[in-house]
Amino acid sequence: MQTLQRLSKHIVYLTPVQETDRPVLGAVTGNTRTLVIDAGNSVEHARLFHDELKKEMIKPDYLVLTHSHWDHVFGLEAVQEPVLCQVDTYSNIQMLQKLTWDDIALDQRVLAGTEIAFCADAIKKEFSEKPRNICLPLPDIRFEKGMTVDLGGVTCVIEHIGGDHAGDSCLIYIPEEKVLFLGDCLYANMYAEKWQFTSKEVLRLLTEIEKYDANTYILSHHPHPCTKKEMEHEFKRMKTCAELVISCQGDTIAIQQELTRKLNRDLTEDEIETVGFFVNGYSG
Ligand SMILES: [Zn+2]
Repeated sequence: MQTLQRLSKHIVYLTPVQETDRPVLGAVTGNTRTLVIDAGNSVEHARLFHDELKKEMIKPDYLVLTHSHWDHVFGLEAVQEPVLCQVDTYSNIQMLQKLTWDDIALDQRVLAGTEIAFCADAIKKEFSEKPRNICLPLPDIRFEKGMTVDLGGVTCVIEHIGGDHAGDSCLIYIPEEKVLFLGDCLYANMYAEKWQFTSKEVLRLLTEIEKYDANTYILSHHPHPCTKKEMEHEFKRMKTCAELVISCQGDTIAIQQELTRKLNRDLTEDEIETVGFFVNGYSG
């Protein structure tokens, strides 16, 4: 069950759904304007959020896309407000416009290696009883490196950050609230042959993210916002893995042993998975 949560005086968000891969949708409201973050994974998802906003008397003025993956853009058809996005997000949407999304087309693309089973399965679940004539209107405003949107006393700093997960990933920082929407940028590259992280990209990304003075972090598929302390732990773990995969030359057992020694405890399933992603992305 998705619910609208109030994070602060100026920020609300709709909780994610794991099964159908619905990401968090956010809205930042200043004295004069509201910026919505992401369009959602279907027209129903976008409408649900916009209906919830209406109940709170919040009227969206702009929408920004964090990146072009299906679960963040398939709701675009239901969006009335002008849409902002990074230039590569725009060209990726142009490519998505050419595809069809019925089961046969999805299965063929999974077989051909151009779509991944994880996304195809989630699309089938989200659209199990809905027609799949996905209409993707193109965004209205494009930026390359980023832009700042003044909402009246509240600012949204949008920055293109990239990373392994998606080259067009953008983050949205609200300095007055010390809140950072990270989209999916901290997740692995799922479109590689094996899901992977590369040390170089992760280390660069973390350095960029740590420049922001934030107390609350929102990851699009995480069930709740993360605190500074939680993210500091996560950043440290990711950095350690990124460094160990190089010093251990991609040797899974050696990395796991070294990480266990550093943490002074057994590794969690998540940590073992993260090590695996770094090993998959290790090229020597
Ligand atoms: Zn994504």
